[in-house]
Amino acid sequence: MKQPNTDIRPYTRQFYKGDLIPFLLALLETLLGTLGALLISWLIQQLIDLIGGHDTACSLTQLTLISLLLIAGNAAAHLISYHSKPKFITRGISRYRSYVFSKLTKKNLSAFSGEGSSTYISALTNDIQAIEQGYLWDTFTILGNASTFLGAIVLMIWYSPLLTAIAIGLSLLPLIASILTGNKVASAEKTVSDRNDAYTSTLRDSLMGYSVIRSFKAEARMLRLFKDKVEELAKAQCRKQKMRILVQMYGSVAGITAQLGVFLAGAYLALSGQGVTAGTTMIFVQLMNYVLGPIGTIPGCLAERKAAKALIQKIADALETNVREETDATHMTLKRGITIDGLSFGYGPEKQVLRDIHCTFQLGKKYVIVGASGSGKSTLLGLLMATHDHYSGSIRYDDVELRQISSESLFDMTCVVQQDVFIFNASIRDNITMFTDFPDEEVERAITLSGLSDLIAQRGERYLCGENGCDLSGGEKQRVSIARSLLKRAQVLLVDEATAALDPQTAFQVSNAILDLDGPTRIVVTHSLDEKLLKRYDSILTLKNGQIIEQGRFEDLMEKKGYFYSLFTVSQ
Ligand code: ADP
Ligand code: MG
Repeated sequence: MKQPNTDIRPYTRQFYKGDLIPFLLALLETLLGTLGALLISWLIQQLIDLIGGHDTACSLTQLTLISLLLIAGNAAAHLISYHSKPKFITRGISRYRSYVFSKLTKKNLSAFSGEGSSTYISALTNDIQAIEQGYLWDTFTILGNASTFLGAIVLMIWYSPLLTAIAIGLSLLPLIASILTGNKVASAEKTVSDRNDAYTSTLRDSLMGYSVIRSFKAEARMLRLFKDKVEELAKAQCRKQKMRILVQMYGSVAGITAQLGVFLAGAYLALSGQGVTAGTTMIFVQLMNYVLGPIGTIPGCLAERKAAKALIQKIADALETNVREETDATHMTLKRGITIDGLSFGYGPEKQVLRDIHCTFQLGKKYVIVGASGSGKSTLLGLLMATHDHYSGSIRYDDVELRQISSESLFDMTCVVQQDVFIFNASIRDNITMFTDFPDEEVERAITLSGLSDLIAQRGERYLCGENGCDLSGGEKQRVSIARSLLKRAQVLLVDEATAALDPQTAFQVSNAILDLDGPTRIVVTHSLDEKLLKRYDSILTLKNGQIIEQGRFEDLMEKKGYFYSLFTVSQ
C-alpha cells in the first residue's frame, strides 16, 4: 500500500506560508552581500590604478566616500538579516513541525501502532535539523554564492574578456574536482547517518530492555553489541572526516593553481602591454575568490538540499499512507448499539483471523469476550475502533457503517482501557481530565466511580504521577484510565485485558469498578475467568479460531457444557 513520491509541496509550502516579507528581506540581504563584495573588488582596482597613475573613474575623495557608504551598507545588510533570516527560518520550521504533527493525528490508529514511532520521532527531531540546514540556510547560501559567481563573471568580462576566458579555463580544474568529490562526501555522510541509526536503535533497546538485560545477566553481550555499533559508527565518521580533508586538498590545490594562474596571466598581459593594468590584475585575483568559492560550496549545498528533500519525502510518504478516509464530520450519538454482521478479517491475505462473526452489543449492557490466546479477541475489539478498514461484512453503530463514521465521532463515542495506560508526568487531576476543564462535581464523580477516592484523599489532586506514571501502581493507572473514560462520557468502553498485569485482588477490584459503572456499554476482553465477575455480564461471547462459537449468560453456557464450560473448568 506504499505510495512513494507523495507530493511534498504542501510540506515545503509550510516554510514560506505567511512569511513572504521576511523571506524577501532575507533574499534582499543575500543580494546586497553580492553587491558589496563586487563593490569592494572594484574599489581595490580603482585604488591600485589611482596609485599607479592610471586614469580612474573616481578621485580619492570620491572613493573614500564610496568606501564609507559601503561600510554603512554592510552594517545595514546585516541588520536586515538580523531582522529577517532567523525569524523566517525558525517560524518556517515551527510551521513544518506542526504540520507534520497534525498529519500524524489523521493516521489510522492501527497503522500508527504497527509502524512504530521511531520514524516520526526522528522526523521531528534529528531530521528537522538536517532540513533546516539543507533546505533553508543552504538555500540562501546557494543563492548568495550563485549571484556572487555570476556578478564576478560579468565584472570580469567587462574588465577583460581575454583574462576572463583564461580565468574560466583555469576554473574548470576546481569545478571538476568539486563535482567528482562532492558525491563521495555525500555517500560517506549517508553511511554515517545509517550507522548512527543503528547505534541509536541499539542504545534505545538497551535502555528500554534494561530490566530484562539485567535479570538475564546479558550485560556482557549487550556491551559487546553496543561496542560493535560504536566502532562501526566511529569508522564511518573517521572515513567521512578523511574524505572531507581529501576533498579540501583537491579543492585547495586546484584553487591555488587557478588563482595564481590568473595572477601570472594578468601579470604577463600587463607587462606585455596588452591593455591590462595592475588594478585589473588585482581585481581578477580578487574576483577569482568569488568564482572559486561558489564552485567549492554550491555542489555540497546542493547535495545537502537533496538529502533534506529526501527526508521531507520520507516523512510525507509515511504520513500519507494508511490515512483514514474521513467521510462525514457530523457528530453522532449512539442510541441503540453496535451490530456486527458476517464480519471476516485477516491482517494479510493468507490468514483469516476473524470468520463470519455475528453479534450485537446493546447500549448500556455488559459483554465479555473470552477465548484462547490468539483466538482473535483483541482483533475484534480493535475493529470496533476502526483500527483497520479492509474487513468484509459490516460493523454498524446504530444504522451507520463504521467506515462512514468520522474519527471524531468514533473517538467521542468510544474509549479504550488498555493494559498499558499512558500517564503523563503531570498531576493526577490533569491525568484524569487530560488537561481539559471539567466541572468539579464531574471530576469528583469520576474519581469516586473509578475507585480513586482513597488515593486522592491521601495524596491530593495535585499529586505528581512521575514519568510515565512511575509513582502510581498498576491498579491506580487502570483506575485513572477508567476515570478518563467516565469524564469523557464515552458510550462504549472497550477493555482489552486491562487487568492482566495486576495482582488478582486488585484485578478483581478494577474489574468490579468497570462493571459497577452506570451507563456505558462495556465490552471486556479477558482471559481470567472469575465466576463472580462472569456472572455479572449480560452476555459472554466465546471465540475459538476467529469464530464465535457460543454466547449467552454464564449460567446458560455452563448448563450447555460446551466449549465455554471446558474453558472455565480448566481454568479453575
Ligand atoms: P487474542 O487477543 O485473542 O490473543 P489477537 O486478536 O491478538 O488474539 O490475534 C489473533 C491472530 O492474529 C493471532 O494469530 C495473531 O498472531 C494475529 N495478529 C494479531 N495482530 C496482528 C498484526 N498486527 N499483524 C498480523 N497478525 C496479527
Ligand atoms: Mg489479545
